Amino acid sequence: MTNIEPRAPWRATVLTLFPELFPGPLGASLLGDALAKGLWSLEAMPLRDFGIGRHKSVDDTPAGGGAGMVMRADVLGAAIDAARARHPGLPAIYLSPRGELLTQHLVAELAAGPGALLLAGRFEGIDQRVIEGRGLREVSIGDYVLAGGEIAAMVLIEAAVRLLPGVLGQPASLGEESFEAGLLEYPHYTRPRDWEGRPIPDVLLSGDHARIAAWRRAEAERITRERRPDLAARAPRKPA
Ligand code: SAM
Repeated sequence: MTNIEPRAPWRATVLTLFPELFPGPLGASLLGDALAKGLWSLEAMPLRDFGIGRHKSVDDTPAGGGAGMVMRADVLGAAIDAARARHPGLPAIYLSPRGELLTQHLVAELAAGPGALLLAGRFEGIDQRVIEGRGLREVSIGDYVLAGGEIAAMVLIEAAVRLLPGVLGQPASLGEESFEAGLLEYPHYTRPRDWEGRPIPDVLLSGDHARIAAWRRAEAERITRERRPDLAARAPRKPA
C-alpha cells in the first residue's frame, strides 16, 4: 500500500522592510478565509532585524557613485539564510523589474510547489552579489517600476494561492480563465436580460451547450487576436 504524506500548506515567506503591509489584501475574501483555515501560510520577516549597527542599517551608497541607495548583500544574505533554515526547500525569488515576466504558466509552476521565499527590494534595488550568491530567481510583475517589491510579492502570492485546492469556491471555472488555454477569456453576462438597450446575446439564452461553448471559444479567439496578437500566435489551434 502506498503511504501518501499529507501535503504541507503552501507557504509564502516575504523578506521585507515593511512587514506591517502583510497580509493586507491577502487577508480578505476567499484567500483570507483559506489563510485562516490553514490552506496556506504567510510570514513577513522584517529585514531590519538583520540590519547592521545601532541603526540597523540595511542599505548603503552605490559602488561607483550615482543616485539612491542599494540594499546590502551581507544583510540580505543573513536574512535569506535565516528564512531558509526555518523553511527549507522554498524557491527563492527576488521581485525585480529586470526579472522574467510573471505569467500564468510561472504562477501555476509555483503553486504546484511548496511555496515561495520572496525578497521585496526597496531603494535602487539590491547588491548583485546576493542574487548570484544565493541563487535568486528574478521575477517581474510587468514593465513598469514600483517603489518596492511588497505589492509585487502580493501579486505573485495572490495569483498562486487562488490556484491551490480548496481556496476558490468553484474550481471548475479556473480552466476557462484568461491565459489557461493561451487565450483571453470570453465576455460574461448576467441579469438583467436587457440593460440600457443592450441585450444578452441570444446564444447564451438558447440552452444549447455546444453552441454556447463554440460561441465562447470564438469570442475568446477574437478578443485575443484583437488585443494580444502575441498570445493569439502562440495559442493551440482547436482541431476542426
Ligand atoms: N533601480 C531599479 C531599476 O531601475 O530596475 C528599480 C528599483 S525599485 C524603485 C525598488 C524595488 O521595487 C525593486 O528592488 C523591486 O523589488 C521592486 N520592483 C519595482 N518594480 C518592480 C516590478 N515591475 N516587478 C517586481 N518588482 C518590482
